[in-house]
Amino acid sequence: VTGKQLTIGVDLGGTKIETVVADADGTVLGEDLRPTLAAEGPAAVIARIADSIHEACGKANVAPAGTLGIGISSPGPAKPKEGIVTDAPNLPGWHDIHVTKLLSDAIGVPSLLENDANAAAYGELRFGAAQGLQHIVYVTLGTGIGGGIIIDGKIYEGASGAAGEVGHMIVLPDGPVCNCGNRGCVEALSAGPAIARDAAALIAGGKAAKLAELAGESPLTAKLVYEAALQGDDEAREIIHRAGYYLGLGLVGILNIFDPQALILGGGLVNMGDLYLGPALDTARKGAFPQIAADALITTAKLGSRAGALGAAALVISRPPA
Ligand SMILES: [Zn+2]
Repeated sequence: VTGKQLTIGVDLGGTKIETVVADADGTVLGEDLRPTLAAEGPAAVIARIADSIHEACGKANVAPAGTLGIGISSPGPAKPKEGIVTDAPNLPGWHDIHVTKLLSDAIGVPSLLENDANAAAYGELRFGAAQGLQHIVYVTLGTGIGGGIIIDGKIYEGASGAAGEVGHMIVLPDGPVCNCGNRGCVEALSAGPAIARDAAALIAGGKAAKLAELAGESPLTAKLVYEAALQGDDEAREIIHRAGYYLGLGLVGILNIFDPQALILGGGLVNMGDLYLGPALDTARKGAFPQIAADALITTAKLGSRAGALGAAALVISRPPA
């Protein structure tokens, strides 16, 4: 391996660091996965990323210096162009951390930064569910709801670098309070914690017996609510259905505003399948302009947890860092 067309992609998450060494076709030649241990603070995490890069490069049999550079996918908010993570809630102590400079200094190759949802969107565009397309919106459904907008094959960053916050469309005025401070955002109604919150309220009211039995003393999660629904708890099923419905209202807005070739849904909640996505897609297709809904591909992501790292790796080629 000459390494000339190889790039490094790092997906920095609140719980894990995923690093890939990939070629221009998205083939992964080396990979490393390790815990972030975010509580130890930025310096320790940066050192851990550097270790992860060396490990992945070792597996790919290439020196870091033999690659074109490093793409870093990180939780926002960030200033991607400047390479700075401004204030990441999932990474304690990360305030205005110049992650590209720190990593470039540590590894000796240039690096770039992209927010995680944008990087995953780009990964799906290049190597996943949206291969060959130009205009897509990617929505990630998990603990939060985020998004990435790609227009003419390029990530749309917005004026301040924060575009794509699709989870914060307000779909229920006076609805539950969101992490952003507003009420009734899609994230406050359809993300994992919202499903868990609604389930806890039901149980507190003496309902959802099956779910209460399943949960026992452990904290409620969307996954537990889903398991209860599968086992025939109609009230658990109704919670997931309602979360899907509100997601669908958000998707109507995305479809009508962007008229995308594809709307790609990723993140852990897509594992709930039809129970969650059924009402979402139904609402989206019925609510969007017929001309838009008729041609838009609405499908689930293909790259799984590798999307961010692969997208970041691909960006090193399309947007070479200095
Ligand atoms: Zn919000």
